[in-house]
Amino acid sequence: MTRQNSTAELDKAAHLHPYTNARKLEAVGPRVMAEGDGIFVRDEQGNEYIEGLAGLWSVAVGFNQKRLVDAAAEQMAKLPYYHVFAQKTHGPAARLADKLVELTPEHLTKVFFTNSGSEANDTVIKLIWFLNNALGRPEKKKFIARTGGYHGITVASGSLTGLPWNHASFDLPAIPVRHVTTPHAYFFAEEGESEEAFAQRLADEIEATILEEGPETVAAFIGEPLIGAGGVLVPPAGYWQKVQAVCHKYDVLLIADEVITGFGRTGKMFASDTFGITPDIMVLSKQITSSYQPLAAIMMTDAIYQAIADHSERLGTLGHGFTGTGHPVATAVGLENIAIIEEQDLVGNAAAMGKVLQSELARFADHPLVGEIRGVGLIAAVQLVADKSSRTRFDPEGKVGAFFFERAHDHGLIIRNIKDAIAFCPPLIITEEQVCEMVARFGKTLEDTLAFAE
Ligand code: PLP
Repeated sequence: MTRQNSTAELDKAAHLHPYTNARKLEAVGPRVMAEGDGIFVRDEQGNEYIEGLAGLWSVAVGFNQKRLVDAAAEQMAKLPYYHVFAQKTHGPAARLADKLVELTPEHLTKVFFTNSGSEANDTVIKLIWFLNNALGRPEKKKFIARTGGYHGITVASGSLTGLPWNHASFDLPAIPVRHVTTPHAYFFAEEGESEEAFAQRLADEIEATILEEGPETVAAFIGEPLIGAGGVLVPPAGYWQKVQAVCHKYDVLLIADEVITGFGRTGKMFASDTFGITPDIMVLSKQITSSYQPLAAIMMTDAIYQAIADHSERLGTLGHGFTGTGHPVATAVGLENIAIIEEQDLVGNAAAMGKVLQSELARFADHPLVGEIRGVGLIAAVQLVADKSSRTRFDPEGKVGAFFFERAHDHGLIIRNIKDAIAFCPPLIITEEQVCEMVARFGKTLEDTLAFAE
């Protein structure tokens, strides 16, 4: 199908898109999105879709929240830009910092702002290097991450990411990092292995990796509480407790990348609460502003802050920061967005609607294409497989998922396929009726996909 309109033509002629097959885009043209309303978005032709992925896992409050528009406009009119370098600040950055310290677990007492999740993880890497230089242990610089994990795409954060398309042809990883096994029992547990035994094996692997590298060289372990962009992979029970114990044993910092899970996604304010994680560093973005403005935040313990602060005094400065760090419009929008999440109890709604979503999806358990249905709260995935009993993946992997992704549009649904896993992560404002409608559209697409896969 060729889509012809002036925006599409301009775009095709001039725009190199991220995460896009450029030649396919040239051939087919982009889908031009025009407006949003609650959980719905409409394209230029007026076709309406349920945004089952909340944009990029991020629009908590829906696509037309006027309070965020007003917060941005007011701040634009008052002080559209100011920085937070060299002993300057402004109201929105200071108030949001205070709010985040109040909201996140008590032991996290300071925040550093960036514009994106990738920049935040890049900054985490640099702050930890800075910290360990400050503490007189310059060799403690290596990271442990997971295959299948996603932490961004900059040179350093992209190195932590454990997905092949983020490394291949980009000459990554470019920093010292070891990737350990994906915590996903469906594909990676051995036959007959209990969840507990699988979790123990994964923790043992992390310990062995630390010992192999030398604990004096390993700085930190980074993980999403549940892996999002890598396929919505829920870790086995007890995983985080075991991983945490290994990190403590070897003085390895634990970083919870809550860029997707932060602000209610799993039915609690943070997935660290859901999974019982006590991170040294927590990374937040996306739902912090519902992505109405680019913003990310790095939360850290007092111990980390104190060492960094001392070193900044020794050197005369902390030589790191972006022009947009703590941007007044972004932080003003963040404050208002968090106020809405709290006032409307969207965390409670995520917990309640999450139950509806998971039980509606469970109705497809016997479908011939459905291997696993997984998720927590308002994030879920349905794993499509070629053979249910042997858990055999499609060959080539991703072809069936790509068909599903395209066909879902015809049923008024936008989801994400991660290879052959179909991911859901709708806005937190979704109602029960809308969850059921979203899953009904999923069901129609699944029937079309069955015909395609056979
Ligand atoms: N960390 C996680 C867990 C993410 O899901 C993402 C983006 O999807 C990032 C980091 C990178 O964020 P950004 O795309 O804002 O750079």
